[in-house]
Amino acid sequence: MPNYSQIRVNGKRLWDSLMRMAEVGKTAGGGCNRQALTHEDKIGRDLFCEWCKSAGCEVRTDKVGNIFARRPGFIAERSPILFGSHLDTQPTGGKFDGVYGVLAGLEVIRTLNDAELGTLGPIEVVSWTNEEGSRFSPAMAGSGAWSGKISLDDILDQKDLHGISFQDELDRIGYSGAAPARAFPVRAALEVHIEQGPILEKEDVQIGVVTGVQGMRWYDIKIIGISAHAGTTPMSGRNDAVITLSKVISGFTEELFQFGEAARATFSSLRSEPLSRNTVQSVASASLDIRHPNDEELDRMEKILRLRLNEFSKLNGTKSSLTRLSKTESTMFSEFCLSAIKKATESLGYKQREMISGAVHDSVYVSRSCPAAMIFVPCLRGVSHNESESALPGDLTAGCNVLLQTILRLDRQFQ
Ligand SMILES: [Zn+2]
Repeated sequence: MPNYSQIRVNGKRLWDSLMRMAEVGKTAGGGCNRQALTHEDKIGRDLFCEWCKSAGCEVRTDKVGNIFARRPGFIAERSPILFGSHLDTQPTGGKFDGVYGVLAGLEVIRTLNDAELGTLGPIEVVSWTNEEGSRFSPAMAGSGAWSGKISLDDILDQKDLHGISFQDELDRIGYSGAAPARAFPVRAALEVHIEQGPILEKEDVQIGVVTGVQGMRWYDIKIIGISAHAGTTPMSGRNDAVITLSKVISGFTEELFQFGEAARATFSSLRSEPLSRNTVQSVASASLDIRHPNDEELDRMEKILRLRLNEFSKLNGTKSSLTRLSKTESTMFSEFCLSAIKKATESLGYKQREMISGAVHDSVYVSRSCPAAMIFVPCLRGVSHNESESALPGDLTAGCNVLLQTILRLDRQFQ
């Protein structure tokens, strides 16, 4: 009987694969530009498929371009354990966001091959199409279509800024596959990813056990006041839209503490009219992004925002409107997967902590179809979506070992 618990990944090979993939779409600033369905994306996909085939995997692509590479198990009819992430990047992205999860998955398969170890059920590494959403909207298109949360036709009809369609680009790069873009039975799904935040590095913890993902809501705020002469209108007699907006921003931000450490509110795209410095502004608008791991708290945040908008508008003699543009529900990951991750991490002797992800990932959609969870590793200063994004080889190896040992546990465990 082989000793599964002693087996470890090859950290150097994982690092070399990451650096080789980083050559594809390499930017002058040391990052990567491998946006979805571009020529660079095609080259990256080709490289990944070639590596998977050399590792003996059966590779298939579905109609939205998701790539699945399967290593068969002893029991063919068992549902696979699925693990991976995305190969596409932001226009000025880094070398690790997404690609780490995909290549860590490949490293798990290579490691099992080296050790000549089989698994009971099949295991599959996946690369989801267009996670970033920077070229084609929406983000997480591949996992969204797979889980049935986004319509495949809507995705394929999307056009980029130059009017080129998703379907045409998928055909052009040769990744419009034959498999249906639909969820199949999966025993458990795992995604290992850099944290993209500063907590693990700050606390000197190697493994983040991600128990859930924040819910997120987007709003447009508009304040309507009355334009007036900047010199002749007394301060007390103004209906200044900018003043109302600034009070709402500072008032709401100050009240956030009551929602705990996990609450987030980000105001952006501030604008005002008319474009004149000696006129009291009649229109002020802003965008707002709020996040929290609990949907009820998000409801409460929205309620307070509306109250403050009405209150400050009344005080200032302005009118206000709040438009909700989108609502992404929060996610709690599967206990079946989380307990396996915790035990695997413990057996490997790495420091771990539970955490909530502030960023949305493919696993959010995947978790709607099967038991899923995520593993985080630290990244330098928490910087991501940036060419300087960086992570230590030792931490990347640790995350990959946790992935491997979690897969081996889940494979042998009864659900
Ligand atoms: Zn990512």
